[in-house]
Amino acid sequence: MRLLVTGGAGYIGSHTSVLLLEAGHDVTVIDNLCNSSPMALERVQELAGRSLRFVEGDVRSREDLNRAFEGGIDAVIHLAALKAVGESCEKPLRYFENNIGGTICLMQVMEVHGVQRLVFSSSATVYGQAESVPVREDAPLRVTNPYGRTKLVMEQLIQDWCAAQPKASAVLLRYFNPVGAHPSGRIGEDPRGEPNNLMPYIAQVALGRREFLRVHGDDYPTIDGTGVRDYLHVMDLADAHLKALKYAVANPGCGVFNLGTGRGYSVREMVAAFEVASGREIHCRIGGRRAGDVSELTADPSRANEILSWRAAHDLAAMCADTWRWQQQNPTGYE
Ligand code: NAD
Ligand code: UDP
Repeated sequence: MRLLVTGGAGYIGSHTSVLLLEAGHDVTVIDNLCNSSPMALERVQELAGRSLRFVEGDVRSREDLNRAFEGGIDAVIHLAALKAVGESCEKPLRYFENNIGGTICLMQVMEVHGVQRLVFSSSATVYGQAESVPVREDAPLRVTNPYGRTKLVMEQLIQDWCAAQPKASAVLLRYFNPVGAHPSGRIGEDPRGEPNNLMPYIAQVALGRREFLRVHGDDYPTIDGTGVRDYLHVMDLADAHLKALKYAVANPGCGVFNLGTGRGYSVREMVAAFEVASGREIHCRIGGRRAGDVSELTADPSRANEILSWRAAHDLAAMCADTWRWQQQNPTGYE
């Protein structure tokens, strides 16, 4: 297929693009590089042994999108978004404009070009603090921050768009906590400035770039008091996009799937696993709870297991080992 990957230079987009190229698809990436490096795309092509077409541009620009759709596109994988929860609380309009505005513009240009297949990056954040875990797709959606609100609104926009066009198909993928890197160590997560997320923070402490990890609370009602999340390997997540595409081709309408392993790990368990993988001690200090954090969120991935025939294959040891390889080989990321 001829595929357009928005945000394809980013963490998840780069890993997904490798697998799409390896599967023989023609890939066009549109990315404004606001949170990524063009070097990621060079390495994607090196890993896949094939080239892709890169349009440096913004999904809020019809002109840029028209360039990306030139030559024909059969389906879009829409990952481009801003994703920092804390920043979204400080600059909500920026998030609404970029994420929601960009999605509306993309769907309008898709319509002009007659493209009716869409795979969308949603997030477990749409569940907020779920009443019970593991959480299923039909659980109530209750977002707790502006970033989450953008994801929820984008899901609803896509559902309405699908409902209005009998032939259209969309797949909403609710990612839990993607971690890890390509096993080659050539591409991985490269956060700008101080990482917000746990895994890149731990990796930078192991490397000596940061002195200690601040554990955001140890008084949660979890096995050891620290927050529990469902971490999944980014290569498994990338693979889910191929399965979602296949599903979209065969099934009109809008499907929604949790992507996680179904198994939760606490912050302390993550630290312990990373110490084993890296052979380094991770210094920790216990801090207070982070605003907006939930105590425990894990996926019930059975729908994706059964309907998409997708299952997370990598365990926590692989997630840590691959993160560590990427971090060691690229101590300052793509710089
Ligand atoms: P990322 O920041 O590494 O990648 C996003 C990419 O989109 C970046 O390359 C950025 O430059 C690009 N981008 C942003 N706004 C754009 C715009 N207006 N026009 C063109 N390009 C733009 O983030 P990621 O971790 O790869 O996340 C990809 C998607 O997955 C996002 O939609 C994110 O919300 C979602 N998601 C991520 C996580 C996670 O923990 N990483 C979890 C759940 C959902
Ligand atoms: N966390 C932490 N210290 C950090 C970053 C994260 O203790 O520097 C904790 C956080 O409170 C949560 C877990 O690690 O319990 C995962 O956080 P992350 O930001 O990676 O994912 P999210 O909260 O978005 O699920």
